[in-house]
Amino acid sequence: MFDDTLKVFKELTKKDFRILTGIEIEMKNWEWVPVPDLQRYAELPAEKLTYHLERLRRKKMVVRTLDPYEGYKIYFEAYDALALNTYVQRKTFSAVGSEIGVGKESVVVEVLKNPEIEIAKPEVFVLKLHREGRTSFKQVKRTREHLAGKEHFSWIYAARLAANREFTIMKKLYPDISIPKPIDQNRHTIVMEVAKGSELSKTKVLDPEWYLDEILRQIRLIYSKGIIHNDLSEYNIFVSDEGVQIIDWPQYITKDHPQAEELLRRDIENVLNHFSKKYMIKKDVDEILKDILKNTAFDSDITGDPEVGNLATAEDAAKAINAAPAFGDFEEETFSEEDDDFTFRN
Ligand code: ADP
Ligand code: MN
Repeated sequence: MFDDTLKVFKELTKKDFRILTGIEIEMKNWEWVPVPDLQRYAELPAEKLTYHLERLRRKKMVVRTLDPYEGYKIYFEAYDALALNTYVQRKTFSAVGSEIGVGKESVVVEVLKNPEIEIAKPEVFVLKLHREGRTSFKQVKRTREHLAGKEHFSWIYAARLAANREFTIMKKLYPDISIPKPIDQNRHTIVMEVAKGSELSKTKVLDPEWYLDEILRQIRLIYSKGIIHNDLSEYNIFVSDEGVQIIDWPQYITKDHPQAEELLRRDIENVLNHFSKKYMIKKDVDEILKDILKNTAFDSDITGDPEVGNLATAEDAAKAINAAPAFGDFEEETFSEEDDDFTFRN
């Protein structure tokens, strides 16, 4: 599925990206963006615009309606292409490799950044494309109430919010907490380093006691910053010789959340259940929870940080987005005419 988008991406021109960006921005106001509104972004005569829209439609980058007027919208494929274009412009990466994970709410692919010096090796990163809103992001329903007639916008909004939250919290936690280093963010996507080793769920560790202790130590450290992961399990923990790394952060909550204790307990319990089932190690969840709640000093609390706080709830972010005059990265972006050095490893 993402492969198709990549193929199309290579064929898109500067004009195509301007049109897609126009639809992206105007989707804040329209379920179906009228053609005259796109003229402004495309800077093209009417018949040229029609030609480009038809081309984009054939490439399945835009969807058209003719009733009650001619209007266009985009789906994730085009949104992916827009994000890719931004990253290539910024030189965050220059090539896309294979898919390494399809989660409940994301597509994760390897990307390559060419080295600045010729003899150095290319760097490998991970691009995570959020897909919330397509399926069941916990906050989408709640958020919808605050979108007041902008339901058509909710998947863009939800996926972008999730990527934003995830990147923001990763920037705040790294390097104190053991997570992949966050590199860059755009729209509904983030770029980060590749997690070391493999998922806890997919491997059998030789020293389970050590890994369990290390995971619990990380949970404590995270909580001492006032943060709870809120989706912790063997699927979101990587293990290697060097230790553990925790991924998948968009649903984090702060210690002030009304269900904070309950959700912290669930995180601990998920981990304990895994070690109990796979390694026969038994620990008491309530004892650990009680100890954490009682003995955490919050000496490195980050919940007062406006960036962490501002995105602490979907409601706050919904308000922020509704208040924003424009949407997207249109103004700051430059569009290059050539496809230049974008290559594929397949
Ligand atoms: P989801 O919410 O869809 O579960 P995740 O962040 O857990 O999103 O990513 C889905 C899968 O992609 C993970 O289970 C993992 O296998 C892979 N993945 C995600 N981030 C990384 C990373 N930084 N390094 C290596 N693999 C990753
Ligand atoms: Mn996950």
